[in-house]
Amino acid sequence: MRWRDARRSENVEDRRGVRVGPATAGIGGGALLLIIVLSLLTGENPLDLLQQAGPVPDSAQVGAGGPATPSGPPDEASEFVRAVLGDTEDTWGGIFAASGRKYDEPGLVLYTGAVQSACGFGSAAVGPFYCPGDKKVYLDLSFFQDLTNRFGAPGDFAAAYVIAHEVGHHIQGLLGIEDRVARLRQRVGEADANALSVRTELQADCFAGVWGHHAARKDMLEQGDVEEGLRAAAAIGDDRIQRRTQGYIVPESFTHGSSAQRVEWLKRGLQSGDLNQCDTFQGILR
Ligand SMILES: [Zn+2]
Repeated sequence: MRWRDARRSENVEDRRGVRVGPATAGIGGGALLLIIVLSLLTGENPLDLLQQAGPVPDSAQVGAGGPATPSGPPDEASEFVRAVLGDTEDTWGGIFAASGRKYDEPGLVLYTGAVQSACGFGSAAVGPFYCPGDKKVYLDLSFFQDLTNRFGAPGDFAAAYVIAHEVGHHIQGLLGIEDRVARLRQRVGEADANALSVRTELQADCFAGVWGHHAARKDMLEQGDVEEGLRAAAAIGDDRIQRRTQGYIVPESFTHGSSAQRVEWLKRGLQSGDLNQCDTFQGILR
């Protein structure tokens, strides 16, 4: 990818090296609400979910310096994230403006190990996730090493696709899709709820592709980049990786669809560059 000249996003929050505090002081109202919603959706006892959201292992107080601010020069990885997020802002800003809407930019939090979000605690073990409660993407950069080493999907565009997929969930929130899915979910059984999750994930893949299409038109992609993205989409399908939540509540713990489905929908976005081609719900949303 040719990303070095790209505008850097100002919405990246660097919390690397910050250790999250013990959860024993109680969880926030947003997280509590999410737990109640989740329990309604999943039929799980909210108390069980509460316990899952409880103390984080290896909990320690936040460092005396408060929220981390990077002291040294910006490192390559965080520069890359800022560049990719910045380009998604420009692309989606343009797409929204074309239909007379303002694009409300998401935040992105870099963290190491575990992190506190409005959706509860997230950990590197579950991979990147988007929290609708605070409209932020949460990313532990070690996931990019995992992509290379564990999933056999190296390359900067593979990493960019992951960021763009999470931004895709933000787009779903802005377009009201997330709300409509949540309402529909309340009326269907567990199997259908799972299918809704898959459609949601595949649409985020397609939206990532839409961004990729526009990046290509700006000549940001190099030979082999699209293949890198498709390899990553295939590698992190549900049939290749079963993510475990291990007591953490994160939207990304839901099912994502098969490798073939993920590749298909990413391709559809990449080829068309048109979010109207990303209707994975095919008329079932009202
Ligand atoms: Zn997702």
